[in-house]
Amino acid sequence: MSVIGIDFGNESCYIAVAKAGGIETIANDYSLRGTPSCVAFSPKNRILGVAAKNQMVTNMKNTVFGFKRLLGRKFSDPHVQKELKHFPFKVEQREDGGIGIRVNYLGEDNVFSPEQITAMLFTKLKDIAATALQTQINDCVISVPSYYTNAERMALLDAAGIAGLNVLRLMNETTATALTYGIYKQDLPAPEEKPRNVVFVDFGYSSLQVAACAFNKGKLRVLATATDPYCGGRDIDMALAEYFCQDFLTRFKLDPKKNQRAFLRLLQEVEKIKKQMSANSTRLPLNIECFMEERDVSGEMQRATMEQLCSETFTRVERTLRAILHNAKLRPEDIYAVEVVGGSTRIPAVKSLIEQVFGKNASTTLNQDESVARGAALQCAMLSPAVRVREFSVADVQPYAVRLAWDAARGEDGDMEVFPAFHAAPFSKMLTFYRKEPFSVSAYYSDQVPYPDNFIGQWNIRDVQPTAEGESQKVKLKVRVTIHGIVTVASASLVEKKQDSSQTDNVDMENVNEKESNQEAPMDTNGASQEQQNGPDNQEVREDDMKGEPQEKQSWTQRVGQWFSGEGNDDKKDKSKDKSKKVLVKTIELPIDARTHGFSLQDVNTYMEQEGKMQAQDRQEKERADARNALEEYVYELRGKLSAGEALHDFVAEDQRRRLVSHLDALEQWLYDEGEDQNRQVYSDKLSELRTEGEPIKQRRLEFELRPGALDDFALSI
Ligand code: ATP
Ligand code: MG
Repeated sequence: MSVIGIDFGNESCYIAVAKAGGIETIANDYSLRGTPSCVAFSPKNRILGVAAKNQMVTNMKNTVFGFKRLLGRKFSDPHVQKELKHFPFKVEQREDGGIGIRVNYLGEDNVFSPEQITAMLFTKLKDIAATALQTQINDCVISVPSYYTNAERMALLDAAGIAGLNVLRLMNETTATALTYGIYKQDLPAPEEKPRNVVFVDFGYSSLQVAACAFNKGKLRVLATATDPYCGGRDIDMALAEYFCQDFLTRFKLDPKKNQRAFLRLLQEVEKIKKQMSANSTRLPLNIECFMEERDVSGEMQRATMEQLCSETFTRVERTLRAILHNAKLRPEDIYAVEVVGGSTRIPAVKSLIEQVFGKNASTTLNQDESVARGAALQCAMLSPAVRVREFSVADVQPYAVRLAWDAARGEDGDMEVFPAFHAAPFSKMLTFYRKEPFSVSAYYSDQVPYPDNFIGQWNIRDVQPTAEGESQKVKLKVRVTIHGIVTVASASLVEKKQDSSQTDNVDMENVNEKESNQEAPMDTNGASQEQQNGPDNQEVREDDMKGEPQEKQSWTQRVGQWFSGEGNDDKKDKSKDKSKKVLVKTIELPIDARTHGFSLQDVNTYMEQEGKMQAQDRQEKERADARNALEEYVYELRGKLSAGEALHDFVAEDQRRRLVSHLDALEQWLYDEGEDQNRQVYSDKLSELRTEGEPIKQRRLEFELRPGALDDFALSI
């Protein structure tokens, strides 16, 4: 069984595996550790990862990138609209308001969702891991930006589902980095001591994430996060490209914005300059041959100019760095270290901003490219029974305040905050409602969620009826932030107590049935519940240690529309404070209809099937290309060896040799002609036919060599 962690980046992905000896990142088929988040389409197959990026400039309209930012979003989202301006491929609105990416694949127009495209990339990552580990890949932990909302997280789970990956946890990227940092540290403060606070800054291709974490021996707790989903290294590339566009217009009368291909090349070139400039502050040249209208262009850039051009980006970086101090309620002197990861933290201006804000140097203890994947693999190992790793508890946060709303016709408040921003996660809260009929609740993000849509979900609780006496029933809802950071109503149950009811309203008395969890005091309600008995009471349950709780290892399949059998007859003994007064509690699970984000199970299955077909097509095309290559290679090899002075020349009669060589010439011609695009069988038939003639000649040479004293004979024969 395999244990892998995937860092799904906006620009590139990294895969780490847990092995007996520790955590390793693995290289792809191009011997690179980073695999570009890039998917391309051709008349014959799909092209994934490195190969896709390599052919981008020549197949722009069918090379898809930047899709991590499209997951879970609507076409009309202003942010999506802004992104579209930079895409050379076609993006359109689907019937349901979602995003469709239109490409030419197998000679036909095809529209794929961002989830499907992501799934394609995941199948490639799966392949890379399977090849490296020589085993099937199923269980994994995938990292996500900490700012991802429910919609994005669910979209990512759908993508993983389509790719046949079982996600044990969606893990926030900065939390993964924090785990990589903490697990090997031998000198963390003891559990009862003051924790060590470390800030992690991950500045990548298109977003900036900062997290403050408190470490003690054996555990880490995320205190808060601060993020800017719309600020990354690519903004610097854009600013530099803008500058050169102006420059070329003035000096060469060329407008790269009028030529997508030229603009794409310009972006690639300025990125190179930007990277060089991180190590070099002097003047750097830019030269692009045959840029536009068959003309070469050249220019130059200095670090100071770059910093001026990108001042807006750096202002945003500074703002986010300061925000973490505010969100985590830390002063710079409370912070032990600021660890940086992500490609864009290599920029000197970013490092000096860190110094300015925190009063200490940016520390580079961690591998800047691989820490996220490593943390994800560590987490996967902890959640999986396959590998044993050191125990390390990870308590994350939920970054946005979450509110719950319900029908307020009963004189109660119809709305309350269930999770304030930076509330611990995973976590469950029990809310108690008193109802005589079915009812519904909906959840939404309350403040400053950087998305136009703050809807989380709506849950209709069915089968609620009055008691025999016509009274309201006590209905408990479990509102949960899951291990994936997804907010959901996990269950609804009717609670009946078989005992004198004078004391039944104390929520503390309820057995919440959460294994291995620390219960906390009931949270303050908004006033409605306690006196009037018709609003929700609350009880909190932290879910620190999820290991061994099978329910949490659910995959996407179990999430879509949670249904419970109406007769969950689960008699439990209450084990609360007062052991002498045992209360018999009967809970009955109620069915829930959920309307949330993400695909239906049926859709996921359809897409899985489609993905399977595309994989088969890719495999077939690969076999075809391999068969063609094998034939081509054999033709070249045999012809080479048959020529004068070469190994096989003297081991075949001259007239047969001549005939064979001219046959080989003809085959070569054919391969570039009508033989360019035949099916696999045609090539392999021709190869075996050729081998029946070629192999006996090779055999004669071999026998000759193996004869005693063969080499002397050979020497004599020359
Ligand atoms: P994200 O974290 O936004 O999802 P990602 O994880 O794919 O994306 P990274 O690989 O961390 O992103 O970073 C890629 C970015 O880092 C690119 O914009 C790249 O230009 C930039 N980068 C890499 N090396 C350097 C360098 N030496 N100097 C400046 N920028 C660099
Ligand atoms: Mg990243």
